[in-house]
Amino acid sequence: MQVLLWRYFAIFTVLIIAVVSLVCFGVLGNAYSAQARDRITTIGRGLTMIIDGKNSQFTGEVGGEMNRYAFTEGVDVFLTGTDGQAFIYTTEPSDDWDSIFSELNSTVNGWTENRAVIYGSSSMLNYASCVTFNGEQCYLLVRYPMYIMTESVNSMQIYIIIIAAVTIIIAFIISYILAQRIARPIRTISETATRMAKGDYSVQFASAEFEELAQLSESLNYAKDEIKKSDDFQKELLANVSHDLRTPLTMIKAYASMVKEISGDDPQKREKHLQVIIDEADRLTGLVNDILNASKVSAGLSELNKKVFNLTEFIYGIMNKFDYLQETSGYKFYVDIDPNLYTLADEEKIYQVIYNLVSNAVNYTGADKCVYVSLKDMPEQSRIRFAVRDTGKGISDEEKEHIWDRYYRSKDAHARPVKGTGLGLNIVKIILQAHNFDFGVNSVKGEGSTFYVDFPEVSSNPDEKIN
Ligand code: ADP
Repeated sequence: MQVLLWRYFAIFTVLIIAVVSLVCFGVLGNAYSAQARDRITTIGRGLTMIIDGKNSQFTGEVGGEMNRYAFTEGVDVFLTGTDGQAFIYTTEPSDDWDSIFSELNSTVNGWTENRAVIYGSSSMLNYASCVTFNGEQCYLLVRYPMYIMTESVNSMQIYIIIIAAVTIIIAFIISYILAQRIARPIRTISETATRMAKGDYSVQFASAEFEELAQLSESLNYAKDEIKKSDDFQKELLANVSHDLRTPLTMIKAYASMVKEISGDDPQKREKHLQVIIDEADRLTGLVNDILNASKVSAGLSELNKKVFNLTEFIYGIMNKFDYLQETSGYKFYVDIDPNLYTLADEEKIYQVIYNLVSNAVNYTGADKCVYVSLKDMPEQSRIRFAVRDTGKGISDEEKEHIWDRYYRSKDAHARPVKGTGLGLNIVKIILQAHNFDFGVNSVKGEGSTFYVDFPEVSSNPDEKIN
């Protein structure tokens, strides 16, 4: 990238300098020759008027005036007959006078009153006009040597080339430094990203001088922290899950061996041992289901299948499932449910939500083993609020932010050891967000927690919604 940037900068400067130089070359050359033509025309016209006697203010000698122009303007002036005999001149006619005169003669093409022409080459510019001197037809020839000008133009052009070359070299150096300054932080970011990709999350993306790159570094640092968190969570989960899977599997194997070798003939013992196997197998199934559910829900594999159903009966139905805990483990469920409430949702998914929330309340409630479940109509908001309250240790404000995260499990000791995966509330969150339902938790540390979900209230008729 650095080379590319440098190349672009360099090409750009060379182009600009080339354009500027070309313009200078063209303009300089043209300006000089235009100026020379103007001057020779002014001199030629002035002298023509004097010789023709049309300048009434002129009283001096024609020869003297010709000499004055020759001296002040650096031109050679000749007054010559139509036969080629120069009779007044400012410089002695040179050896090539014959060819000079024949060029003049052929260019003017015969004496014609008032005719004037400018002709010549890059080294000599000529002005010729037909004049009448002392009643004789003759030619006035003004010669302007261009080589002095051409030389100064040439030396100017050499200066331009030198300046252009120096500017290009400076531009190359500046663009190299600039390209390096832009490319260096990008290279650093890319090297850091490579280290991170190899699993080194201790890296830090350095802030850069350019705002956009500084923002990129910031975003990458954020992404890195998130990836690290998820990586840590996954490692922790793997450790937890493998531990949680190993325990029931060991139990199942141990009790199966006991049934085979010891209790096979004793129906009472066998029954007890088989029940342990069944319970542990159930725990395994629950665990595996949780993990599968979480990945299935978050991968969006399961579409929502919404329909209107009786929420009151639905909640009663779920609470019945927890009845056995009242009988076997001394839990007390206080249920306060308003009658005949209907909502529109995916029944199967909402089952997972309610079941997870009530299970958590059971798992995390205090020593009194009380769980409070309510379903209340809030007609002014067209909502139904489901709430489940426990009397456990509660959740700190800091923890509240994390409990909905995948694999999050509190490190706090609860009333009884809870074997979980940290997936339950994450599943709840994903399902409720997909429904766009309000939900949350109110909790005071040491006084228990209340988890709630707001369902939209609809009429019992599936086609008619309550506003
Ligand atoms: P799990 O219960 O399997 O650990 P969850 O996702 O259901 O996973 O809950 C995540 C964490 O939230 C739990 O580890 C626990 O710390 C906390 N939590 C959930 N429900 C309650 C509750 N009713 N009271 C106190 N803490 C809770």
